Amino acid sequence: MLNICIVFAQLECETIQKRVSDAYYSRSQKGFRMGGKPPYGYRLEEILMEGIHTKKLVEEPGEAAIVREIFDMYEQPDTSYGDITRYYAEKGVQFYGKELIRSMLAQLLRNPVYVRADMDVYRFFRSHGTNIVSSPEQFDGIHGCYLYQGRDAQTDKLQNLKGHMLVVAPHEGLVSSEQWLNCRIKLMRNKTIQANRKAVNTWLAGKVKCGNCGYALMSIKIQSGKQYLRCTKRLNNKACPGCGKVYTEDVENYVYKEMVRKLREGQSPAAYTNLKENPQVKQIYREIEEMEKVASNISLWGEIDFEEKRFTVDKMIRSLRVFPGSVQIQWKF
Ligand SMILES: [Zn+2]
Repeated sequence: MLNICIVFAQLECETIQKRVSDAYYSRSQKGFRMGGKPPYGYRLEEILMEGIHTKKLVEEPGEAAIVREIFDMYEQPDTSYGDITRYYAEKGVQFYGKELIRSMLAQLLRNPVYVRADMDVYRFFRSHGTNIVSSPEQFDGIHGCYLYQGRDAQTDKLQNLKGHMLVVAPHEGLVSSEQWLNCRIKLMRNKTIQANRKAVNTWLAGKVKCGNCGYALMSIKIQSGKQYLRCTKRLNNKACPGCGKVYTEDVENYVYKEMVRKLREGQSPAAYTNLKENPQVKQIYREIEEMEKVASNISLWGEIDFEEKRFTVDKMIRSLRVFPGSVQIQWKF
């Protein structure tokens, strides 16, 4: 009996999911807004569409001027993401209360919500395999578009346009079709360079900082398989000269050797030696156990897992600053 109930419950659940997803697609195909916060440059206004209360995007003048400025800058052949993020950082302009970062800029430049879509935009998406829901006449050179993640598409809509759904929306775009397409094509050319950069885990993470600016270093694997430590401030907008060309592996090896040496020197936290006189014995016993674990981890380094390595590093090291050709370790004891 219980089993039958479970089967029915599952069926019911799947039916509801399908109904919800069908409703979503039929609504989005008509250009209804599907929720979420409005894209930068717009605010939401209530409208009545086909007898249904929905929301329409309306230009937010201050932000819209910045969106237009961003497209103007990026359209220039030599302008990079870094030039733009640095420009707004220096001017103190914030986006949703934060400094503009590459990922947000990349999304903004790719979003067809901003284009005054005409037949060139229609042809661009069609040639990239996007399913275009609106008829060609709706591409009137005035209205922006929504790009929805396609139900059967294999890739994210920001990476590849194939199989996703494009609908002409009720709001007006902010930039001309020519300018938007110039930027979009420039983004496609840059994509291959971006794809080679991949963040990789290192047990130095959370500790290792740029010697120059103090921002975190990120381990990045390039196509050859080598991993480098790169300053994240430099990656974001080149505002820091960085820490030079430093292999992650070299720093890991160096730090490990230094941790071994540190423990051999016989130095240990003050609490370790004065333990018995200390009233907070429990806390200190825990510290002893941790330090014993640290010592044993150091001797078993090749066999312990990633989390153990990070634990050990955290117990021993306050921070790591990497300079061209040298590494500065701040010990916790
Ligand atoms: Zn830096």
